[in-house]
Amino acid sequence: MISSNGNRKHLNSQDRPVAIITGGGTGIGAACSRALSQNGFYVGIHFRNSRESAHQVLSEIHGNGCLLQADMNDIDQVERMVGVIQEKAGRVDVLVNNAGMCINEPMVRMKMDSFDSQRSVLRGVWYLTKRVLRVFMIKTSSGRIINISSVVGHTGNAGQIPYTMEKAGMDAMTRSLSKELWGRNILVNSVSPGFIETDMTKDLSEEIRQQIVRQVPLGRMGKPEEVADVVSFLAGSGTYITGSVIHVNGGMYCG
Ligand code: NAP
Repeated sequence: MISSNGNRKHLNSQDRPVAIITGGGTGIGAACSRALSQNGFYVGIHFRNSRESAHQVLSEIHGNGCLLQADMNDIDQVERMVGVIQEKAGRVDVLVNNAGMCINEPMVRMKMDSFDSQRSVLRGVWYLTKRVLRVFMIKTSSGRIINISSVVGHTGNAGQIPYTMEKAGMDAMTRSLSKELWGRNILVNSVSPGFIETDMTKDLSEEIRQQIVRQVPLGRMGKPEEVADVVSFLAGSGTYITGSVIHVNGGMYCG
């Protein structure tokens, strides 16, 4: 079907369950896109700058989804993205709030702008979640929201105060939102990774890498697929889990 503005409508013609993965074209998000597609989901692969990687993931999942572009710091762009998934897929069953970035600088040197840009990622997550709930999940009384937080939101980490605040905030949102949604059959959980081999950690020096690995009982950093496994479980099974933070960190912190 072609809509008035010439776009194809409801490309999800087989009416499969639909997942949005923010940052779904790189690292942990890309692994989630592949895992959920394998589990039968039509996947809205969100990106900000990494169009090429998002496109690559879309072709790896045999075009079983669509691309969604938005800067999470820009509420208008987030709103438009909700309109695009509505047009292309007509429903959203699972939202994985994975997009995130980390500014590394000690508090005494950090500028207000850096603090604000880290904080506005959480604002975007809050807004996207609210819109997905209102436009899709509350109407169908079903859905799963999965927030990707971080072990450092629990343990703290020097040089990452706004990041650790953001990630602790995501876990707090998970707990509170799960309670707001009692009785609506919408489950909200966090997956809290430890140190995972992605672009976010690729520039760590060998010395820091060794320091990290020494804190991990399993003796290595994790792989994106090991986080995606848990996201996939929460998206498709896990029917009696809500308000929880599931740690995927090789044992470095058990909560
Ligand atoms: P990554 O490959 O760098 O992924 C980060 C993703 O977030 C990118 O796809 C990026 O999109 C997107 N993003 C960042 N800022 C954005 C913004 N303002 N608007 C829209 N999208 C934005 O690293 P990753 O390790 O897979 O990170 C995924 C999530 O896992 C993050 O939330 C991160 O905090 C969390 N995490 C990672 C680790 C780890 O050790 N790697 C540990 C704990 C938690 P573009 O590239 O298109 O800009």
